[in-house]
Amino acid sequence: MDRYSSFANSRAGRLVVRGVGLPRPPVLRRYTQGEPDPEGPFLIGGSGRLAFRVIPLLAGTQKEGERPRAVVCDATGVTDPAGLAAVYSFVQPAVRDLLPNGRVLVLGTPPARCGSPAEAAAQQALEGFVRSVGKEIGRRGGTANLAYVAPGAENAAESTVRFLLSTRSAFVSGQVVAVEPAPAEPAHGGPVAVVTGAARGIGLAIVGVLARAGARVVAVDLPSAGAELAAVANDVRGASLQLDLTAERAPQRLVRYLTDRYGRLDVLVHNAGITRDRTLAKMSPQEWDAVLRVNLAAPAAVTEAVLAGPLMPAGGRIVCVSSVSGIAGNRGQANYAASKAGLIGLVRSLAPTLANRGVTANAVAPGFIETDMTARMPMTIREAGRRLNSVTQGGRPIDVAETVGWLAEPGSGGVTGNVVRVCGQSLLGA
Ligand code: NAD
Repeated sequence: MDRYSSFANSRAGRLVVRGVGLPRPPVLRRYTQGEPDPEGPFLIGGSGRLAFRVIPLLAGTQKEGERPRAVVCDATGVTDPAGLAAVYSFVQPAVRDLLPNGRVLVLGTPPARCGSPAEAAAQQALEGFVRSVGKEIGRRGGTANLAYVAPGAENAAESTVRFLLSTRSAFVSGQVVAVEPAPAEPAHGGPVAVVTGAARGIGLAIVGVLARAGARVVAVDLPSAGAELAAVANDVRGASLQLDLTAERAPQRLVRYLTDRYGRLDVLVHNAGITRDRTLAKMSPQEWDAVLRVNLAAPAAVTEAVLAGPLMPAGGRIVCVSSVSGIAGNRGQANYAASKAGLIGLVRSLAPTLANRGVTANAVAPGFIETDMTARMPMTIREAGRRLNSVTQGGRPIDVAETVGWLAEPGSGGVTGNVVRVCGQSLLGA
């Protein structure tokens, strides 16, 4: 927890903060292994294609008099604007009762798949509704998200419903996730995962989450980070590979390593990234090139090399770590924002072409996450980045890692081509 949040949540700090009218960042509940995932009580309502499928997924349903921890509204039955009144009538009293750190999840039909303009209008309205609810309940650590589940994808939505209701999604709010029909996953033991930039920060956390899910993880980072990298890999009984991803033939070396050692790659996480911040007028060609090469050219080349042969089987997952800067742009980050927007383009192009191979491609876009990268920011920019979101605090590497973990799950085959922000509903680019 950052210093202001600790102070504001101390006994003396609470009084001061309340007295001068400053926000008190809520203490976010995060997942610890073994706890119910997700945890009830759940309040499930609405009508459509999904409510009766969601009820059996969620062990605890609400008992008389209990306040809900999570509210699920099936809005797939809303076919015109008048029907939105039912969403209001169900969610409005529920939100009033919601426990701190609560969850609101609305399930809808993708507007592009609707049968009429009236239905599409009503379904699109859900976006504005959910994003506003997120901004309201964020003050108490709550999140609100929308899953557009395509007709025929009802069986593919479980991993997404669970993730968005659980404490694994503590810093994911105001997001719209599309779920498409997906075939049942072929079962196999111990998927092989590669995480780049794994020696520290977000990459380190991703290694932990994938290993927790049973993956054999190959942690990749620069030779200069070799000692930390080896420690990260040892911790999860994984392997470490020292590799500068921008070096000549680095993608081929990685593919050769995986082919020789495992003969397969199931999960590829492009996390390595650098910043060289400077306003464009002052930016040197070296600063431009370095960022574009590490953040965009390397992931594109590695992806191409992996997909050129049979290394990634059906059920494969590609996840790019983009950034909110890649969506909104950021002063002093023309190089970085271009590289991170480029990753979104990569994912959007890959997703439809890989669908017939049973492979998904998605991006996560972190907002302000407390790591070495953000610790180096000037104090005023850092403080603004931390506070300007619905939960008035920075996220943690684990928040990004849990999101990657959900996208990498075998059950997330219907989630592809998505860009999921992990930003506590940052005002940047909102
Ligand atoms: P970090 O600087 O702590 O870690 C990045 C890792 O990438 C380092 O271990 C570094 O050695 C490695 N790396 C750099 N160049 C490499 C290369 N050529 N080959 C192999 N490895 C290389 O950064 P972080 O904060 O953990 O960020 C991880 C990812 O998340 C990055 O892509 C970053 O752009 C993105 N991101 C971070 C934030 C944030 O707030 N921290 C926000 C948005 C996006």
